[in-house]
Amino acid sequence: MFEHTPQQADLRDAVAALGSRYGHDYFVAKAKSGEHTTELWSEAGKLGYLGVNVPEEYGGGGGGITELAIVCEELAAAGCPLLLLVVSPAIAATVIAKHGTPAQREAYLPGFADGSLKVAFAITEPEAGSNAHRLTTTAQRDGDDWVISGRKCFISGVDEAAYVLVVARVSAGDRLQPALFLVPTSAPGLLATKLDMEIVSPENQWLLYLDEVRVPADALVGGVEAGLPALFSGLNPERITVAAMAAGTARYALSRASTYTTTRKVWGRPIGAHQGVSHPLAHAAVQVELARLMIAKAAALYDAGRDVEAGVAANMAKYAAADAAALAVDTAIQVHGGNGMTTEYGVATLLGAVRAGRIAPVSREMILNFVAQHVLDQPKSY
Ligand SMILES: Cc1cc2nc3c(=O)[nH]c(=O)nc-3n(C[C@H](O)[C@H](O)[C@H](O)COP(=O)(O)OP(=O)(O)OC[C@H]3O[C@@H](n4cnc5c(N)ncnc54)[C@H](O)[C@@H]3O)c2cc1C
Repeated sequence: MFEHTPQQADLRDAVAALGSRYGHDYFVAKAKSGEHTTELWSEAGKLGYLGVNVPEEYGGGGGGITELAIVCEELAAAGCPLLLLVVSPAIAATVIAKHGTPAQREAYLPGFADGSLKVAFAITEPEAGSNAHRLTTTAQRDGDDWVISGRKCFISGVDEAAYVLVVARVSAGDRLQPALFLVPTSAPGLLATKLDMEIVSPENQWLLYLDEVRVPADALVGGVEAGLPALFSGLNPERITVAAMAAGTARYALSRASTYTTTRKVWGRPIGAHQGVSHPLAHAAVQVELARLMIAKAAALYDAGRDVEAGVAANMAKYAAADAAALAVDTAIQVHGGNGMTTEYGVATLLGAVRAGRIAPVSREMILNFVAQHVLDQPKSY
């Protein structure tokens, strides 16, 4: 766990090299012009980095979430935190590889392997919020088809994705249970409205209206009974890769800060000579390294199939990494003085993204609820 395999070390170096050829200026320029990071995504796809966790028989790298977390972290450390890595390869590819039918695996996994297929993920609803028990989007059987109706919010990357993996409730006897549907983003009845977000990112969030969207029987991933396990199988990879992206973003910010504090002179010496400048950076660096350790542990447990322990570790890793990233970016801005708030120095552009990392995909309060209940045996508080 503390040492990469030679292949993982090579992967880290290679992704870092790719990321550095694009960099944060490219990411920000794309965000500000309303474009996507298409060149970076397709180059990463061709090099096999987007499909590291897809089984080899479908053209992927045959690795696990450890490898995908390396990709997420290194691109973010180069200033390119790509949120779609979290929803498409981490959630959707995992769910289909683990719970899809043989035909679904055949149809979709090769596209995940080379990055040519992007799939968004839609669980959040305006009224349900953090309480997934209150989801009201439903799918009803009509002959061989399913008809889906409901509303989703904050769905990332809908404009780039060919499908959205939608969580909807289906009847199972006398109860409603979650099931997962691959809904084409071009499906009649699916309307997407862009949300205005205060995040500098080429990836956008969308409100989705599903008005009797009709999909064929084979849009249901796995089957009705596969719904809940399929949903859970995607959540730990999501948390681990979000955490890795946050840790990479934190490393990027600290690296910008270190460059600045060793060169900027206000009192005749570099400002980093003042402990008031270097200690906050050192403190943030400690938090980031601790978070990275937890990310590695969570990914190793997940890849070893130890799902319950991985759940605890993934939540803790996400909590720690999100806080460390928010601290690192805030500190990096502070040590830049006024330059910290300029676009040119490339740190304030990360404020929105790292702040959102403490809210999504699961908020720090819901993680504390989970840890209090499942690690500390406290009564359920909500
Ligand atoms: C940039 C971004 C991208 C996103 N991408 C996606 C996506 O691709 N797909 C998707 O499905 N969703 C996505 N989301 C949605 C995200 O998962 C939700 O915002 C998140 O789960 C929180 O839900 P909420 O916004 O409804 O907050 P709410 O549930 O309304 O919570 C509001 C506040 O109350 C707190 N709170 C709520 N309940 C409790 C409780 N029981 N105890 C203590 N505190 C509580 C929360 O922690 C939070 O601070 C995205 C969000 C953002 C910001």
